[in-house]
Amino acid sequence: MRYAMAMDTKKCVGCSDCVVACQTENNVPHGYCRDWIVENVDGTYPNLELELRSERCNHCDDTPCVRTCPTGASHIIEGGIVKVTHVECIGCGACIQACPYDARYFHPDGYVDKCTFCDHRVAKGQETACVAVCPTKCLYFGDLEDYNSPVSKVLRERKWKVNAPEAGTKPQVYFLI
Ligand code: SF4
Ligand code: SF4
Repeated sequence: MRYAMAMDTKKCVGCSDCVVACQTENNVPHGYCRDWIVENVDGTYPNLELELRSERCNHCDDTPCVRTCPTGASHIIEGGIVKVTHVECIGCGACIQACPYDARYFHPDGYVDKCTFCDHRVAKGQETACVAVCPTKCLYFGDLEDYNSPVSKVLRERKWKVNAPEAGTKPQVYFLI
């Protein structure tokens, strides 16, 4: 099993529903977030193109965040989901420094926090909170090893890119282009 997410940059309207749903579902403290919207403008006026991306931890295959964690708090669970065990985290910030995507934040309670691909919901057969609320259905989640999962299907049908492939972490959040 290998969980991954695909995000359709052609359908995202930048409404931030995914951000708010995540904050609510995961008790993210006010002023912090586990996912966020990036607006990218390309081209020269008047030929401009706007790309909107809903971004989060990429649950990479090669994880500098896990490698650098001195306590083992940062770890990988079944399906390749990268997690932090809060009680084992000493808040040293090594993982924050190591992540090329700025995907982690210091929780005010003294540990590091990030996207978990809503593993608590996925374990119950539910969609991640962001996928469940997206009004344009531009987020796809599932098992890459399942030929028929929504994410496998859309990655076969569409062109895609990943953020900063040169970082060498093999990110597992794909952006449909
Ligand atoms: Fe680690 Fe950053 Fe990759 Fe997430 S995006 S798995 S925090 S390196
Ligand atoms: Fe590990 Fe916590 Fe240090 Fe990150 S801040 S490296 S999770 S102990």
